[in-house]
Amino acid sequence: MRYVDVILPLPLEGTFTYALPAHLAYKVQVGCRITVPFGAKKTYSAIALKLHDEKPQGDYQVKEVMALLEDDPILLPAQLKLWQWIADFYLCPIGNVYKAALPSGLKEQDEESSYKPKMVQCVRLTEAYFDEAKIVSVFVELKRSHKQVTLLMKYLDMSKAAASLTLKNPSLLLEVEKLELLKQADCSTTIYNALVERGILETYDKQVDRLAHDELPTEMVLHLLSPAQQMALDGINKQFESHNVCLLHGVTSSGKTEVYIHLIHQALEQKKQVLYLLPEIVLTTQLVNRLKRVFGGRLGVYHSKYSDAERVEIWQKQLSRTPYDIIVGVRSSVFLPFRNLGLVIVDEEHETSFKQQDPAPRYHGRNVALMMAHMAGAKTLLGTATPSLETYFNCQKGKYGLVELFERYQQVTMPEIQVVDMAEERRKKMMDGPFTSVLLNEMNKALADKEQIILFQNRRGFSPTVECHTCGWVPRCPHCDVSLTYHKRLNQVTCHYCGYTTLIPTKCPNCECEQLDNVGFGTERIEDTIHKIFPDAVVARMDLDTTRSRQAYEQILQNFQHGSTDILVGTQMVTKGLDFDHVSVVGIMNADTMLTMPDFRSYEHAFQMMSQVAGRAGRRNKQGRVILQTKMPTLPVIKQVVDNDYASLYADQMEERRMFHYPPMCRLVSIYMKHRYESTLNGLAYELAMLLRKVFGERVLGPDTPPVARIQNLFIRKIVLKVELSANMQDVRNRLRQAQQYYLAQDKYKAAQIYFEVD
Ligand code: ADP
Ligand code: ZN
Ligand code: ZN
Repeated sequence: MRYVDVILPLPLEGTFTYALPAHLAYKVQVGCRITVPFGAKKTYSAIALKLHDEKPQGDYQVKEVMALLEDDPILLPAQLKLWQWIADFYLCPIGNVYKAALPSGLKEQDEESSYKPKMVQCVRLTEAYFDEAKIVSVFVELKRSHKQVTLLMKYLDMSKAAASLTLKNPSLLLEVEKLELLKQADCSTTIYNALVERGILETYDKQVDRLAHDELPTEMVLHLLSPAQQMALDGINKQFESHNVCLLHGVTSSGKTEVYIHLIHQALEQKKQVLYLLPEIVLTTQLVNRLKRVFGGRLGVYHSKYSDAERVEIWQKQLSRTPYDIIVGVRSSVFLPFRNLGLVIVDEEHETSFKQQDPAPRYHGRNVALMMAHMAGAKTLLGTATPSLETYFNCQKGKYGLVELFERYQQVTMPEIQVVDMAEERRKKMMDGPFTSVLLNEMNKALADKEQIILFQNRRGFSPTVECHTCGWVPRCPHCDVSLTYHKRLNQVTCHYCGYTTLIPTKCPNCECEQLDNVGFGTERIEDTIHKIFPDAVVARMDLDTTRSRQAYEQILQNFQHGSTDILVGTQMVTKGLDFDHVSVVGIMNADTMLTMPDFRSYEHAFQMMSQVAGRAGRRNKQGRVILQTKMPTLPVIKQVVDNDYASLYADQMEERRMFHYPPMCRLVSIYMKHRYESTLNGLAYELAMLLRKVFGERVLGPDTPPVARIQNLFIRKIVLKVELSANMQDVRNRLRQAQQYYLAQDKYKAAQIYFEVD
């Protein structure tokens, strides 16, 4: 008897064994999709991981595989290996990796939701009328039906029917899309239907490739690199002789993308495939077009905002004999099949959005990409103006190569950053809402000179909190342990953790006072304030609320780039993505919100965000100005931003990480526990911490109550495990898994969730 071990799309550990019926025994291959029964009456589409002849142990009845969904595997062996690595490294069930990796069209087994090819209606001559003489007589018949004649003429023209009829070869007819025909002939469907009723034309469905749209002319010419860029490129090639990974540390606008393009070109010359990974917000149409002008149809884009059907088509194309040579995509593109990967580029490698938060697998796109390249024997280039400490540490250790590019393209000067003390301005009553007088002054000058302004505020909504003027009551989420954010335009308060939304009360439910004060400034309130101070300026806002659709996002960027917007206010989204040519002023509205985040990486991230947004200011012939507003002007990290002094930031932060034992000076695993009942959860957290202390001793911290202690009605506790770099992580992971299984198997904790976050 043949058996197959499969992965199910369920959050379950390990694989499941099924028997193969005779007719499938030698048809199912590793990586194939098959349907299997599970539980009492469920059916799932599973992935075959291993084929063998060993009857599973135990006296349960082994169920049979029901069907094979496609003859050929949809996963390559390398992908399955990567799935296993992810499940192991990030301590999550492989079923979760399966769920995250495949577009849903490749996961569903019922007809309803599975992938369907896209069809277009086309038009052709019926067999009966594929005859020159008949066509001639038709025109005589139709002469009173003016419109029908026009339509038929147009069809004959578009399909190049003349030659085809003369040679009596219907296969020479070109395909004509019905909509296009009606448009060109300027005719209605009624006219068309008349010709169909006469039996002259007929409609048929043609399957189209969703990917074949918007082809741009390809130049296939590379820009000449500047001497500094050429040196960087040579440096990278040199580093690749002795390292598999290299960091390109290049200031904003140094032309890193141009260097990538040359590297991609080299890889293609060697007949290798390239994966170019970007954070979501940097993957703009502008960038894709820039790459398509060089690489044309050899480039495919994999984006989470694309439809599932489009993603299925890219997947299948990558498995076909004519895959894209280059994939540009967001973190999930590490799951795509590559047969011949030679180079991975991770642009903006420091970006936190490479990390998937929820659901599991809680993986880091950059780190998975590094592993993927490693498994494929490919090289990886990490690029950024503000490296993550982890990456830079690896360079210092000599594990990664390092190449620096500290000159902006065409020697554009770096912006001048001015720090303004908000506390002092407030004391002197010089502030107007969130604006210091210094920032207002710069904005006035810029507007007078018809230059553009970017204002960066790391909070969306109108005000982070609303507060009763009399008793201090604050609206809170009924499901989470947080206050609600006020969104003025919608007149609503919203929970940014679970999405719970309700109308803002007209009076305080506590004391009936009718005055509710706004506390703090979100992007929406800043936009509002600008309208009041600069009534003539055109303002746009870019945050999660205004960019729900991809089109909205592109539209805001375009308006700004074309100069129809004077002031762009936004969250982190404005810190990158585009080269703006007329930005002379950048305002960092409040550095403190970033610096006071309860996270050991908050200074690192604040430095990165501020340096990136500052890099938007200043172009060709004018130095840009950045106004940095803070109440903590003497903090060293502020000076490091002002001086663009990464080396000093690195030294300071590494010292802290060393002292307080944080990555990259140790490995960190956070263990999260969730439960509906707080008392049960406390019991679990306490017991688990005890058990872990027996194994890991002082390396275990907690249990603690995190700052947001309840989300979506589940209470949360956290235990932190810090392990030395020299520890055997495989062993640590095994013990953590065992502890997790041990508690979840107990009756009193079976409704609990225990999951891990690695580093
Ligand atoms: P970075 O990615 O380092 O921020 P970019 O690659 O986006 O910088 O380059 C900044 C701008 O300079 C872009 O508009 C780019 O087209 C232009 N540029 C950079 N290098 C060259 C080059 N060698 N030839 C022509 N234009 C260049
Ligand atoms: Zn009140
Ligand atoms: Zn909530």
